[in-house]
Amino acid sequence: MRTNEPLLLAGSPVAAERRAAVQADVEAFRRNRGYAPGLAVVLVGRNAPSAVYLHQIIKGCTKVGIDGRVVEIPGRATSTGLRREIDRLNRDPRVAGIIVQMPLPKHISLRAVIDTLDPSKDIDGLHPLNAGLLALGYDGFVPATAKAAVELLKAYKIDVDGMNAVVVGRSNIVGKPVARLLLGEHATVTTAHTHTHDLPGLVKTADLVVVAAGVPGLIKGSMLKPGAVVVDIGINVVGGNIVGDVEYDSACQVVSAITPVPGGVGPLTNAILLGQLMHAARGTGPALQVHQALQRMAGA
Ligand code: NAD
Repeated sequence: MRTNEPLLLAGSPVAAERRAAVQADVEAFRRNRGYAPGLAVVLVGRNAPSAVYLHQIIKGCTKVGIDGRVVEIPGRATSTGLRREIDRLNRDPRVAGIIVQMPLPKHISLRAVIDTLDPSKDIDGLHPLNAGLLALGYDGFVPATAKAAVELLKAYKIDVDGMNAVVVGRSNIVGKPVARLLLGEHATVTTAHTHTHDLPGLVKTADLVVVAAGVPGLIKGSMLKPGAVVVDIGINVVGGNIVGDVEYDSACQVVSAITPVPGGVGPLTNAILLGQLMHAARGTGPALQVHQALQRMAGA
């Protein structure tokens, strides 16, 4: 049992700094080009959890002057219909970035949709080209949530070099990219998932635990190594409240640093997404890397 309070890894102050920088970039872009950079959020069917997340993204766009628009596709649309719509957005010069809201209805092929995205507009890093760049340790668009988790640690000067890190969750949008980013920061990374035999035993060995399972209270204080750093990416609604995947009160008894939920990774995710949109709009940073990779692949 610890006596002093853990360091709270709050995302909002870090996000506010990022948003201010994005806002200045948007203003410069508008002065140069005469129009606002555009973000298209493709929503298929009316799905309540997605709609809340979507609303936050559009609100974030409005605050900094980005032209955020929702492209609503009826839930009965086919994979082909959705791909046609994405292709239209790929060719629209005013649309700098495209996000496809998950989860998609079951009858739509996620893979076919992701493959259709123009990788240089894929600001949330889902396209195989962006995932491949990340896997190889090259720059490209990285899923914003995964990037937010790692950037939050950096913002609070937590150096993960050499740490034993356990990432709970192996989704393409969160768990896998978090693990790859942590490897890039020289952590020793183990990824746990539903088939992991002894999750408590594994978590007990970790200096850093990043949780993205979508299971409220999955990680309890008794499972954590004293002094561990905990990043809780989970967002779950329990009894009308938003909670993470970590049992916050019991974890606070043992950890040295922890993200609150809400107010941890979430706010920074949004700000990072908008920063990535500006790279896509200007063709800089990850967008330039993607462009160059495409050119090399085409033999140009
Ligand atoms: P997902 O369902 O696609 O993946 C969950 C992963 O967790 C799977 O790989 C699964 O194997 C693993 N898992 C589930 N139960 C487990 C258990 N009992 N033991 C070990 N592993 C287990 O979910 P996702 O899209 O990766 O999202 C994960 C969580 O992160 C969700 O709560 C989601 O709402 C949240 N999320 C947060 C943000 C943010 O900005 N903070 C963004 C995206 C997702």
